[in-house]
Amino acid sequence: MAPRGTTAAPSAPAAPPRAARRFASETALGRTRRARRIDRALGERYPDAHCELDFRDPFELLVATVLSAQTTDVRVNLTTPALFARWPDARALAAADPEAVEDVLRPTGFFRAKTKAVIGLSAALVERFDGEVPPRMADLVTLPGVGRKTANVVLGNAFDIPGLPVDTHVLRLSRRLGLTESDDPLVVEQDLGALVEKRDWTMLSHRLIVHGRRTCHARRPACGACPLLRDCPSAGIGELDPVRAAALVKSGPAAAGGEDGADTGAEPALEAAAPGLADAAEGAGAADAGAGGGEPGVEGLSAGPG
Ligand code: SF4
Repeated sequence: MAPRGTTAAPSAPAAPPRAARRFASETALGRTRRARRIDRALGERYPDAHCELDFRDPFELLVATVLSAQTTDVRVNLTTPALFARWPDARALAAADPEAVEDVLRPTGFFRAKTKAVIGLSAALVERFDGEVPPRMADLVTLPGVGRKTANVVLGNAFDIPGLPVDTHVLRLSRRLGLTESDDPLVVEQDLGALVEKRDWTMLSHRLIVHGRRTCHARRPACGACPLLRDCPSAGIGELDPVRAAALVKSGPAAAGGEDGADTGAEPALEAAAPGLADAAEGAGAADAGAGGGEPGVEGLSAGPG
């Protein structure tokens, strides 16, 4: 305690980590080159990076992406075969009995909001696009429950049109890597898109997502086992000891589940149908919301295994 009549000296602001200071004077060209080195390094580390949602056509990917909000791709892949066996296209799903769809979607969590979204977007496809998924961002984002993230997933993976989906992993890693200062997904998409060639957008997003799932976790990044250590201004915010860091790294498709696996980026329309959905899941540690049998509310979310 400070002596009576004196005031305690304000504590000095914490100095930025050494790694961050190294990048403070980085030029725009330097950042572009670093972003491309990062993309290459991630490509070598994760040659298997790809869209982890199963689909056979653009409609299936569109629906699967909407269903992936607040749950894992693994759980969506377990659910969609039954959904598409019964309602194989937009016309069938648009005419479906909502209660029957809810029963199928129950394991994915938020199943009432998701049922409303997939039936609504199917009806819009039938009414305005002859039942086909349009291969244009401007059209896709007019569909209920579809925002830029979902549209970019569909464009990049179903149509081979470069798209840069910004989910919770891409957002977190882009900021940690100093490739953006923004936490607005649209600005992050623009910042990243300006740093790499357009043809590389889709794969960059896949690589950042898999790196976020396996190594650069939200809570305990495995910096000591990270191939980006020398190019990352945040190096050292996580475990630096190589042995302990290696133990934190997750591998394979199983890394899509658990603490950091759930896609917490609900699109605005789905968010409107289930208010607070995205924030609740982030606060709960990106939980797998589908574990329960009922429609989970905020209190229904629980942290998944680490
Ligand atoms: S794991 Fe550490 S070094 Fe690697 S990208 Fe994340 S914060 Fe940077």
